[in-house]
Amino acid sequence: MIKILQEYILKHFSILNVQRENFDVLIIGAGIAGLSTAFYLPDSLKVAICYKSSFEDSSTWIAQGGIAASLSPLDSPDVHFEDTIAAGDGLCYEDAVRVLVEEGPERLKEFMKLGVSFDTVDDYLDLSIEGGHTLPRILHAGDRTGREIARFLKSNLRGRKNIFFFENCFVGELIVDDDEFKAALVLLKNKPVLFIARAIVIATGGAGQLFSQTTNPLSATGDGPALAFRAGARICNMEFYQFHPTVLMDNTSPRLLLTEALRGYGARLRDSKGNLIMEGVHPLRDLAPRHVIVKRMAQLMKEEGEKCFFLDTRHFKEDMWKNFPFIKSELKKRGYNTETDLIPVSPASHFMVGGINTDLFGKTSIRGIFACGETAATGVHGANRLASNSLLEGLVYGKRIADFITSEERFVSDARFEYRLEVKSSVTVDFYNLRKQLKEVMWQNAGFVRNGEDLQRALEFLNEGLTRLQNNAQLSREYYECLNMFICGKLITESAIFRKESRGAHFREDYPLKDDINYKKNTCTEKSRGLFLCDLKEAFYGW
Ligand SMILES: Cc1cc2nc3c(=O)[nH]c(=O)nc-3n(C[C@H](O)[C@H](O)[C@H](O)COP(=O)(O)OP(=O)(O)OC[C@H]3O[C@@H](n4cnc5c(N)ncnc54)[C@H](O)[C@@H]3O)c2cc1C
Repeated sequence: MIKILQEYILKHFSILNVQRENFDVLIIGAGIAGLSTAFYLPDSLKVAICYKSSFEDSSTWIAQGGIAASLSPLDSPDVHFEDTIAAGDGLCYEDAVRVLVEEGPERLKEFMKLGVSFDTVDDYLDLSIEGGHTLPRILHAGDRTGREIARFLKSNLRGRKNIFFFENCFVGELIVDDDEFKAALVLLKNKPVLFIARAIVIATGGAGQLFSQTTNPLSATGDGPALAFRAGARICNMEFYQFHPTVLMDNTSPRLLLTEALRGYGARLRDSKGNLIMEGVHPLRDLAPRHVIVKRMAQLMKEEGEKCFFLDTRHFKEDMWKNFPFIKSELKKRGYNTETDLIPVSPASHFMVGGINTDLFGKTSIRGIFACGETAATGVHGANRLASNSLLEGLVYGKRIADFITSEERFVSDARFEYRLEVKSSVTVDFYNLRKQLKEVMWQNAGFVRNGEDLQRALEFLNEGLTRLQNNAQLSREYYECLNMFICGKLITESAIFRKESRGAHFREDYPLKDDINYKKNTCTEKSRGLFLCDLKEAFYGW
C-alpha cells in the first residue's frame, strides 16, 4: 500500500506544489568560477551559491601548481597568448584568448591587493614554469594554490548579506521556456525546491569522474554539459578531454596528481629501463604540452609494453621541495623516499577542454543561462588547455559574467510558468553499479588512445544505460548524477567518433594525423540538431 501511494505521489509530482525561493542570480558551483562571479556581483543583487556536497569537494580546492599570468618584466600578454594558441593546436578562439591573457594580470593584481597570498622570493613573485609555457609565469601558493584562492573568496563572500550559500544542494533540472531560463529544480538536502532567478551561472567544473582513472574530485561528474544539453543549449568540443601524464600510479581514487611544476623544477620522466622518454621527441622535452607527453607514453605502452613511467626527482635539493610540501608529505605517507625512489606515474583523466558553448561574456545559447570555468567552452583552450590557464579562466570570465549581468536590464525573471516532471517510481536500477561500469567503459574505450571500434562499443553501452535510466526516472540526486554522467559520456563519445583525426587532447590511433582541411573546426551539438562542425569564430556565440 505504501509503495502504491509513493508511486502515485511521484507520478503526479508537479512543480506547482514545490517550495519556491527567489533570487536575482543563481550560481551552481563553489569553485573558482562560481565564487569569482559572485565576488564581482554588486551587493544590490540577491545571489544564491549552490554546491552539491561540501565546500572542499571541488577541483579548485585541490588545484596545485598555480595560476598563469604574464606578471614578470620579461613576459607579456603577447607571449602568453602565443603559448596558449600553440597548446590549443589550431582550435583556440583568438578573441577569447586575448581576453584571458590581457585581463588575467589585472585580476591577479587586484586579488593580491585584497589579501591573496602567492609565494615570493625577496619580495618578488616566485614565478614557476610548467608544460607548454616558454617563460616562468605561474603564481603559486605552495602546491595548494586553488585552496588559497577559494579560502580568500569564501571569507570575503561569507561577510556579504546578499550572498546565500547552499551546501548539499544539487541542481537537477533547468527549467527553460521559450528559449529563456526560468528556474532550477534543486534537491536541497534531498528535498525538491524551485530556485527562481533572472540569471543562472553554471559553474559545475569538469567530468573526470566519468573515467575510472582520474585526478578529479567526486563532484566532477559532468553535470554542467548534461544539464545545459538537456535544457537545449549548445555544447562544443567534448572529444577534447585532457589526460594528465604524471599521476601517481596507485589504487586510490581520485589519484594523486604530481604537478607539472615539479618538471618545471627539473623532474624528469623515465621508462622502466631508465631512459628519458621525452628526449628527441619535442623541443621542450619534459615540459612539452600534456597531450604530447601522453601520446609518447601511449606509444611506449603499445610498442615497448611499458605499464607505467617514473618521475625522477632524486636530484632535487631539499630547498626545491619547499614549494611542494603537500606532495612531499603525501608521497611520504605512501612510503616513497623522494631522495632515493623513482615515483611511478601514468596518465589519468584531468580536464574537460570542451563544454557549454559561450561567448566572451559567458552567455550560452539560451537567454539567462551563463557558463563559467571548466564546464564552459569559451574557446580559450582550443583542442588542449595550457597548464595553469584554467584557474585563470574561471577568474577572468567570472568577472565578465558578473559585469554583464550587472549592466544588463533586458532580461527580467517571469515566475509564471508551468512545468511537469515525468517521474516514474522504480528502484530497479543500481545507480552505484551502473556508474562503476560507465567509468570502466569510458576509460577502456574513450580514454587517451581511441579508435572507431572501441568508441562505438562505448556508445552502445551508453545508449543502453540511458534507456534504462530514462525508463526509471526518479527525483533523487543518485538518479540525476548517474543520468548526467551517461549524457556527458555520450557527448564525449559521439564527438570523438565524429572527429576522424588526431588533434590536441583527442588521439585516434585509426586517424593518427591532424586533418586541417576537414577538421580545423569546432564540434558542436544541440539536442534539436545533433552534431555539426562549426567555424572557429562562429561556434562561440551567446543569445
Ligand atoms: C588535482 C588537480 C590539480 C589541478 N591543478 C591546477 C592548477 O594548478 N592550475 C590550474 O589552472 N588548474 C588546475 N586544475 C584544474 C582546475 O583546478 C579546475 O579546472 C578549476 O578549479 C575548475 O574550477 P570550477 O570553478 O570550474 O569548478 P570546480 O572547482 O570543480 O567546482 C565545481 C563546483 O560545482 C559544484 N557542482 C557540480 N555539479 C553540481 C550540481 N549538479 N549541483 C550543485 N553543485 C554542483 C561542485 O559541488 C563544486 O562546488 C587542477 C585540477 C585538479 C583536479
